[in-house]
Amino acid sequence: MTQKYIPYGTQEITSEDIDFVTQSIRSAFLTQGPLVPQFEEALAKYGQSKYAILVNSATSALHIACLALGLTKDDYVWTSPISFVASSNCALYCGAKIDFVDIDINSNNMSVVALENKLKIAELNGKLPKIVIPVHMAGFSCDMESIGRLSKKYGFHVIEDASHAIGGRYLDRPIGCGIYSDIVIFSFHPVKIITTGEGGAALTNCEELANQMRLLRSHGITRDPSLMQKTNEGGWHYEQIALGFNYRMTEMQAALGISQLQRVDSFVKKRQLLAKKYHDKLKKLPLLLPIDSIQAYSSYHLYIVKLMPELVQFRKNIFDAMRNKGIGVNLHYIPIYQQPFYKKFQFNHNDYPSSEQYYSSAITLPLFTKLMESEQDFVVDSLVELIS
Ligand SMILES: *Cc1c(COP(=O)(O)O)cnc(C)c1O
Repeated sequence: MTQKYIPYGTQEITSEDIDFVTQSIRSAFLTQGPLVPQFEEALAKYGQSKYAILVNSATSALHIACLALGLTKDDYVWTSPISFVASSNCALYCGAKIDFVDIDINSNNMSVVALENKLKIAELNGKLPKIVIPVHMAGFSCDMESIGRLSKKYGFHVIEDASHAIGGRYLDRPIGCGIYSDIVIFSFHPVKIITTGEGGAALTNCEELANQMRLLRSHGITRDPSLMQKTNEGGWHYEQIALGFNYRMTEMQAALGISQLQRVDSFVKKRQLLAKKYHDKLKKLPLLLPIDSIQAYSSYHLYIVKLMPELVQFRKNIFDAMRNKGIGVNLHYIPIYQQPFYKKFQFNHNDYPSSEQYYSSAITLPLFTKLMESEQDFVVDSLVELIS
């Protein structure tokens, strides 16, 4: 039997999604209509946050989140090196400086111990970060309580990069509630939990940050009289009061988002079931499997296994053999400081032993809601055969 190619992740689109998007295309608005605010309201409610600001990608959301928090040249942003490059590029867009905090090898998230040690040194050198961006890797919440405590002690802002994590929970609240942070970012790229094609959101409980991000997503233009600096010159009057961007989401995308959000809990439940099956079938192999903590409920955006030290030398062979069988294994992620563009910042790889260990041993297995039982069996059997 020839298997069809199994990707590591892909969207699930129903006829209801298609009908709702079609309806939006037939409406009077393709952009800046009623569906974007409707999706924002639904997202804020789902995330238990006061405000949600929709934009055309999580990358844009990270950018305007940094700007809204006042990030400028010479400020420092710290994030995890084991993330997508967007988590750190947002700092560079603002002319700020980037630095990385090593991960915890068990959770694959920013290590709170490494963060605290780095903060102590930075305080002595007068180089404390303005913003720290923890990333909820694969959908597993970071230790937000500890990060929140450190943010108060050392006076930095926190943006949660929850691009992987809508539908996940932490301490009995949805990721998005922002109890321990200023802003929470979601991504709606097709491989993520729910999708709008391209798209992202920033959630916050702070009205001022919400207003600033709304302004920045649309050229810095306002029609709100209370924000205007000149006297109203007529019905055409609007004012540009900041240097913003065109980061707006379209109505068709919001339509898809509204439709998808209704299924987010069932998507995550399905991902949890698939993850459990991986766990049961792989637990006897020399692999480090994802660790569910009692504090958090993972959205399982990714299922990442790490090879035990004795197998690390065979990682590339195992990876290539899986790909040759039509299994779209992947690797999330190459440490950001290893990217050629980041070479000029001269990060020392030895400063990040756990990130290096992670990068040498990790493999992402296929996990998405439409993954069929036979496909998952094929992935498991192939991995078992290659490792034994
Ligand atoms: C996908 C992703 C982003 C960027 O999301 P886009 O919506 O594609 O811009 C940022 N951070 C992380 C951790 C991601 O996985």
